[in-house]
Formats: sequence, C-alpha cells, structure tokens
Amino acid sequence: MSLRKLLAHAATRAPLDRLWGWARRGAVPILMLHRFHPDSDTGPGLRAGLLREALHTLRHRGVSFLALDETLALLQRGQRVPKSVIFTVDDGYKDFFSVALPIFAEFGCPVTVFLTTGFVDGAWQWWDRVTHTFAVTGLDQVTIPFPDGHIAFRRDPPSWAPHPSMLVEQLKSLAEPVRLRALADVETACQVQLPKHPPPAYQSMSWEDIRHAASQGITFGAHTVTHPILSRTDQVQAQQEIINSRDRIHEMLPPPAISRVFCYPNGLPTDFSQREEQILFEAGFSGGLTTTPGYASVGSGSKARGQYRIPRFAFPDSIADLLQITTGVEALKMGLRGKRNR
Ligand SMILES: [Zn+2]
Repeated sequence: MSLRKLLAHAATRAPLDRLWGWARRGAVPILMLHRFHPDSDTGPGLRAGLLREALHTLRHRGVSFLALDETLALLQRGQRVPKSVIFTVDDGYKDFFSVALPIFAEFGCPVTVFLTTGFVDGAWQWWDRVTHTFAVTGLDQVTIPFPDGHIAFRRDPPSWAPHPSMLVEQLKSLAEPVRLRALADVETACQVQLPKHPPPAYQSMSWEDIRHAASQGITFGAHTVTHPILSRTDQVQAQQEIINSRDRIHEMLPPPAISRVFCYPNGLPTDFSQREEQILFEAGFSGGLTTTPGYASVGSGSKARGQYRIPRFAFPDSIADLLQITTGVEALKMGLRGKRNR
C-alpha cells in the first residue's frame, strides 16, 4: 500500500483521530468552494449530495464549523482552536443561494462568500464569456488572434480541441488591457454577440439573495469588481478593484454581515504581490486569502506571519481526501515533504 493510500485509509478510522491531532497542532483548514449543482443535474461545481455527506461526516467526527473572521482573530491573538474547519465560497454565483445555502443552514455551518461585485451588479464573469461563446457559436473551426501567435480551435463533437478552458488559462497570463482586447477578439472570431447580462447558467446572486443569506448568518467579503488577475493590473486599477468592491458591499449590506478579509482572484503566488498586500493593509483589511494549499495557524493573523497570504485548501473530490485535510493527515504529509504551510 502506498503512503498516500495508507494515510487515506488511516484518516477514515475515527479512533486514529487523536493520533493525527498532534500533526495539526491547532492549525485550521480553510476550505474553498465556487459552484454547486443539485443531485438531479450535472452542472459545474460540487454536487449537493456530496456537500451534505461532507458536512454530516465532519460533524459526526467532532469537527467544529467555525466562522472565518472570528477564528482568524483568535489565531492572531495566539489562541489555538479545536478540531475545526472554515468554509469559504468564491465569486457569488446564484447556485450558492439556490443549492448550497439550505444545506449549510441545515448544519448550522458558517460560510463566508467572496463577491465579485461587478458580477453581482449584472456583468459576466469574464471566463464565462469564453465558455459561453464557444458553446453557442455556429462555427466548427475558429482561429483566435493572440499576442504571441494564433490559436486554432476545432470542434471535436461534442467539445472543442484544444478545450476553451486552456484559452482561459492563457488569458490569465496577459496584461489587463491586452486580456480585455483578446476577450473581445474571441467573440468576434466566433461570430458571437453576447447578451449584456449572463443567462441563468452563469448568473450571480442578486443583492436581495445576498441580504437574505446574510439574515441567515452568512458573511460576505470583497473579491474585486471585475475579477482581474491583480498582478496584471496597474496600481490604480488594483486599488480600485479592491476598494470599490469593498465599498459596494458596505453600501448594500449591514456591517455584521461583512467580512474584513479580502480574497485574491485566482489567488496563486504570482497573482498578487506586496503591492496588493500594502493596499489591503492601508484599507484596514484583517487578512487576505490565497489559493495556496495549507493551514491557517497561530500567527496567521499577524502581518509577520502572512496576514495577507493565508492559505486555503480547494474542497477535495472525495470524503476520504477531505478527512485527510481535517484530521491533520495532510499537515503530516506536508511536514514530511518539508512544505508545512503555516
Ligand atoms: Zn474568484
């Protein structure tokens, strides 16, 4: 049995929880989710049944569901927290409200949702423009002009080769004005004119949905206005994206429903820099969430220990992998690999 399989097996054995507890040593996994779909369809994101099973299993195993801001404040004060997990959801898609919220509410599980505020105000998420453009074009072959050469896409029923998601990844690497031009070029090349507002499959929550969720204890934080890769923007745009999204949330929600934590779009180490950390500091944010895997731990809330570089785990594909994260087996593995991310 491989080490990975052995650890996965061990993580599913409740009596071994205590043995693994030392590996976590007070560290808290922050889980990251984006989209949800009902059991009855095959939409993007996490299936409702798997979310329910995950929450049920975690509760059964004595894992506490903690709120983001309060827990980071405890860690900042040097306090350790019990075996626990924190849930975050990025972007603000409608399916959080329609699919996930009732399930989180059923388990009394706090969630912080990070809103792309321009999206909530009716704009498309830019990657959905690409996905939808390829979904509706009547062409079978498309050539996209790209700054360093053309990319040819061919319909290979039912999908496209190379897959449009590859194009989205390439667009992320472009400087902001070049990316915006390239996005428009994709639609022109595909001979598609998108509606001003996204159709239901790509819709955000409305502010009314958000206020309703807030009344049930969900908190909301800033995730920029247009979801650019901040390191590809200039100083003025970086500042505006962060501050304007925060201000819009303050305009629309009562203070108790607002998180003081910011969440970086895409969130990898190359997607933001000290410049963004400084903007967050000056604007009074208490933390910045990334997508680098790792545990938030004692000291995570202090500037010296990466207050604006707090790691998170993507919600895994299986309950066994989830238990590895929440029991601390993942911390043990990171330690073994010399990559303990605190
Ligand atoms: Zn996002």
